[in-house]
Amino acid sequence: MSFSDLGLAEPLVRALEAKGYTTPTPIQAQAIPQLLEGGDLLGIAQTGTGKTAAFVLPSIQRMVAVQKRVLPTHCRMLVLAPTRELASQIADSAREYGKFSKMSVTTVFGGTSINKNRQDMSRGVDILVATPGRLIDLVEQGFVNLSMIEILVLDEADQMLDLGFIHALKKIVRMVPKKRQTLFFSATMPVSIRELASQFLHEPATVSVKPAATTAERVDQFVTFVNQSEKQALLTITLNDPSIDRALVFTRTKHGADRVVKLLAGNGIASNAIHGNKSQGQRERALGEFKDGKTKILVATDIAARGIDVSGVSHVINFELPNVPEQYVHRIGRTARAGASGVAISFCADDEKAYMRDIEKTTRQKVPVQALPDDFMNQANKIKSQRVNAIGADPSPREDRPRQQRDPARPRATHAASPTGNGRSYANASRGGGRPAGGGNGGGGRPAGGGGRPAGGGGGGGGRGRSGGGARSGPSASR
Ligand code: AMP
Repeated sequence: MSFSDLGLAEPLVRALEAKGYTTPTPIQAQAIPQLLEGGDLLGIAQTGTGKTAAFVLPSIQRMVAVQKRVLPTHCRMLVLAPTRELASQIADSAREYGKFSKMSVTTVFGGTSINKNRQDMSRGVDILVATPGRLIDLVEQGFVNLSMIEILVLDEADQMLDLGFIHALKKIVRMVPKKRQTLFFSATMPVSIRELASQFLHEPATVSVKPAATTAERVDQFVTFVNQSEKQALLTITLNDPSIDRALVFTRTKHGADRVVKLLAGNGIASNAIHGNKSQGQRERALGEFKDGKTKILVATDIAARGIDVSGVSHVINFELPNVPEQYVHRIGRTARAGASGVAISFCADDEKAYMRDIEKTTRQKVPVQALPDDFMNQANKIKSQRVNAIGADPSPREDRPRQQRDPARPRATHAASPTGNGRSYANASRGGGRPAGGGNGGGGRPAGGGGRPAGGGGGGGGRGRSGGGARSGPSASR
């Protein structure tokens, strides 16, 4: 099936061809014909499924069909998104998809100059992509008027609720004309979201794709049980593996993300952090450097990483497990984009085992266990002492010290002893080709979390550890 088969006009198809898209994704195939008809839509899908094009393309076509001059401070289509990153990504996509259709697109979100927002909105715009808080500020100050809106899109509604935007959403919807087309997307559909959708939508068509299942199937997932105090050493070993092209490391807190960046720097590994305490400029720079491969490691909190769309993320590392199981699905979905495969490794400390159980219950799968590398404690001690030495040798205060780039001339100390004893290291073992038959990590690995290795663990034999078993029957995205 082609995009023209779905009823899309030539300028849109041309824009898609320019991006190299020839075949609609499942959500595009299902949603586009429905949306071209003008009805409401409830889409159960997450980022990574192609949902942005699914709602942007038919909306542009419908707006082009009814040419209308947009008045100053007004917009014809409003897209609400939970984070700045997602908002700017949607706007970038809308500009590309609409480049032969003469659609104007702008964004408003916190962390940017409100004066610039006012200027951008002064002449009116076809498509406005906004986060709820900043939008309300601008509306209340009279710089944005929502009374001409024809199409309203709520993207990642579950995330908006999690971030406490419920009142803002309801307020915005009250300001938008009743006669409109409403599109409501959410990765998960708990009762609270379903209720909200029923308030906003009128006889919607429902489209559901199961990205969680398809993503999860493309991602090789592993969990390693490790003491909290040794996670940093394990991270260093993992990241030093040459098979890692680009790794996204997740922490639960902003402080945790900064700490990981600092500790990695102490081990000669350059990384950037992205989280809510960083300025918009810092976030954009960190993301830009990650996207163009200048910095191969990005440490992120869940909220900051939402909406990040970077192809080529080879590894997602859950340095800390999320306490909300759905976040796990969001996190691992950052790798294995656009049909690629990826690896997700979770570091699970004793006090996180309950989170892991919740994740396995929610995703209806058993995540295979990967044992700690052989000789882990020795390696960990070496790594810790190197860090102390590096810090001791540097007279500048920790905070002020510039980020260390890895010195290519410096041997990768943590590789000195290959954990598997045959040149295949921990991260590599988890990625391609599997662990060496009969050898592997089983032997000298430290007992997990100070206790025995959990049952079902695949530390020992060959294969790539899918043996953890359980039906990999497509995890569900629902809560
Ligand atoms: P989204 O779910 O909207 O964030 O899209 C996920 C990624 O898939 C983005 O990088 C899109 O540009 C890309 N994409 C969207 N539609 C297609 C398609 N039909 N073919 C290939 N890639 C696509």
